[in-house]
Amino acid sequence: SSNQFLDTSLPRYVRVNTLKLDTESALLELGKQYKVQKDSLLPDLLVLPPHTDLHNHPLLVNGSIFMQGKASSMVAHALGPKPGWKVLDACAAPGNKTVHLAALMKRRGKIIASELDKRRITRLKETIRLSGASNIKILCGDFLKLRPEDPSYAKVRAILLDPSCSGSGTASSRLDHLLPSKTADSDTERLDKLAAFQSKALKHALSFPAVERVVYSTCSTHHIENEDVVQSVLPLATTYGFQLVSPFPQWHRRGLPVFEGSQHLLRTDPDVDGEGFFIALFVKKHADDDSEN
Ligand code: SAM
Repeated sequence: SSNQFLDTSLPRYVRVNTLKLDTESALLELGKQYKVQKDSLLPDLLVLPPHTDLHNHPLLVNGSIFMQGKASSMVAHALGPKPGWKVLDACAAPGNKTVHLAALMKRRGKIIASELDKRRITRLKETIRLSGASNIKILCGDFLKLRPEDPSYAKVRAILLDPSCSGSGTASSRLDHLLPSKTADSDTERLDKLAAFQSKALKHALSFPAVERVVYSTCSTHHIENEDVVQSVLPLATTYGFQLVSPFPQWHRRGLPVFEGSQHLLRTDPDVDGEGFFIALFVKKHADDDSEN
């Protein structure tokens, strides 16, 4: 039906915070109360039945698990930071992906998390505290104003860029758009503004001197914020020696065919996957011998 996106029978996902608990233990513990299994794609993700209410569960309260969707949990894996690396999370709050990066890096290396919105910094700090990570430095300010030539960023090897977006792929936004008051015109202007910022931020990320991997992600379904943003930075990316690489090559939903190479991009379908996400992965040629290509 046209209202199938109102269907709430999609599974619940929880990401295991492997800084505090290993996936097997989380599986055992949650298995005492719920029907739970491991996700087929992500090693630190568990799948529970729809409507499972975990909000008071001790594992959630103590930061051993995070309520985090599958698409959102794919982003840090796509970046694939190695333990010991210096990594930048450009638009970090509320910090779900920041602390996921920390878990993948196994407490080794350094994460710099920049966030513009002071109020959202509070939530970022709380997420970090809950995660138990101790190698995350918060920068309160505009990512676009970080100077790539600053020595503090000389060793940044990976950047996660998950900028503000329309959120059109999220369940709440899709419900909003059932309201007749939402007009297409006001949307176009808003999307153009967002896309201009996204493109600028992505170019900025690609310009850090030692960066080898850049992930760009949104929770938008609009090609203006997704494929078009990627296409707009391709000439610059090529100049810097980056190529698009396929995150999760086994995943079947890929970028819309708007330019050559867009099959490397990853999409999730809100109707099938619960949320509409977009992921692009740029890798500097010769920088990474065990990259996905
Ligand atoms: N990655 C986060 C997570 O997974 O929890 C979600 C990030 S949210 C989509 C985008 C964030 O970028 C917002 O918190 C917003 O305040 C922040 N932001 C927007 N413009 C920014 C800028 N120029 N510099 C730094 N942060 C910015």
